[in-house]
Amino acid sequence: MANLKFFSGENIPLEMHKVRMVQKINLLPVEKRMQCMAEAGYNTFLLKNYDIFLDMLTDSGVNAMSENQYAAMLQADDSYAGSQTFYRLEDVLKDIFAMKYFLPAHQGRACEHIISQALVKPKSAALMNYHFTTTKAHITRLGGVIEELVSAEALKIQSTAPFKGDIDIDKLNESIKRNGKDNISFVRIEAGTNLIGGQPVSMKNLRDVSRICRKEGITLVYDASLLTDNLYFIKIRDSEFKNTDLKAITREIASLVDIVYFSSRKLGAARGGGILTSNDDLYFKMREMVPLFEGFLTYGGMSVREMEAMAVGLQESLDMDVISQTPIFVEALCNELLAKGIQVVTPPGGLGCHIDAKQFCPHVPQTQYPSAALASAFFIAGGIRGMERGTLSEQRNDDGSERLADMELVRLAFPKRVFTLSQVKYTADRIAWLYKNRELIGGLEFVEEPKVMRFFLGRLKPVGNWPDKLVQQFRKDFGESL
Ligand SMILES: *Cc1c(COP(=O)(O)O)cnc(C)c1O
Repeated sequence: MANLKFFSGENIPLEMHKVRMVQKINLLPVEKRMQCMAEAGYNTFLLKNYDIFLDMLTDSGVNAMSENQYAAMLQADDSYAGSQTFYRLEDVLKDIFAMKYFLPAHQGRACEHIISQALVKPKSAALMNYHFTTTKAHITRLGGVIEELVSAEALKIQSTAPFKGDIDIDKLNESIKRNGKDNISFVRIEAGTNLIGGQPVSMKNLRDVSRICRKEGITLVYDASLLTDNLYFIKIRDSEFKNTDLKAITREIASLVDIVYFSSRKLGAARGGGILTSNDDLYFKMREMVPLFEGFLTYGGMSVREMEAMAVGLQESLDMDVISQTPIFVEALCNELLAKGIQVVTPPGGLGCHIDAKQFCPHVPQTQYPSAALASAFFIAGGIRGMERGTLSEQRNDDGSERLADMELVRLAFPKRVFTLSQVKYTADRIAWLYKNRELIGGLEFVEEPKVMRFFLGRLKPVGNWPDKLVQQFRKDFGESL
């Protein structure tokens, strides 16, 4: 059990792996970091990887692969149709999830595209614990609407609820009644709920939702992209599963739903994705679209090398030593920041540490994008790249006014098994320095604002010359140091 791998007393999270291949990273001087941030239009998506010290933008496609995954890549069977590699991957997936069919797709959003094409009708409602950006885009693109059914507690930054990703059953019943089951395209549960801070869903909740969906005849879809974090939390937060192995938990989850899909950029530490089901009708409906949008049925847009790596990575994901690394490091960083008075989303989830920008810079109005400003300040202070998850990630209202986000967060993601504990400590140290000097942080305004998904490509500039002041303070406090 992972929590036994903490040194007792000291609470040091232990890495249960050793590093055998490395990539050199650069820590540029603070003046250069400020210049890079300016050139990137104060948008961390537009920074160049060479200039970044710790890349905590995302866990997507950047997880460390094991020696066994690399070894498997060398024996990939390259064939357009009927490749051995595909059958190896299919066997692994059918074994882990105990489902009848597997359809390959090139990444998570490609699965969402296929599932939405098969199930979403104009004006139909897709009910879910919480949306993910690409999921929502695919459903609304087809004229569907989404309804989010987490409880009010899930949207509180400070909480002690162990499973904030749970669907509120009263809300679910009410929504089914209001929409009518024929106007519901599907119910979707996202494991390790990404946008509310990597928060898990309990097995009890999944059982309850499944019972209701079966009774009403509504398709239940499970987004397993962040499954491993969710498995970890079921194991350590729900005593019923203390002695249950991870495969058995996974199979129970799969037995409760009609469709499982995943991004293998997250699950299985490779690049790709896929859909599983045991339902014949759903399978044939979705299967038609794989050759049309993805590629032939035995590769679905993926390279055979990635499929081999995925097959091995999925099996390795059923090991507590492998999957505990991210959540215990997230917890370590959250605890260090909380101890310094810096508010983060609690309880700590999977995926990453989510810092509350409203508490960090209350003097920056939401219309000046405090989360984006704080993400820029993290990069200037320490070469650390996080992701804005606040008002900048929202889309403007139809009348052009700003839609202010419920929460203003900066996410520092932990790609699986990539960073060391000293890098976590460095991160906490630089953020604490910034917190002491937080009054220096100012707002941002758009220079170039795209109409859709503005957070990806938008360019901004500081309101006032606060980045210069931050650099001056850095030099005063750290001298010649980087
Ligand atoms: C990343 C992610 C997706 C989309 O996967 P891609 O491979 O990036 O297309 C879908 N759902 C969740 C929960 C994710 O985290």
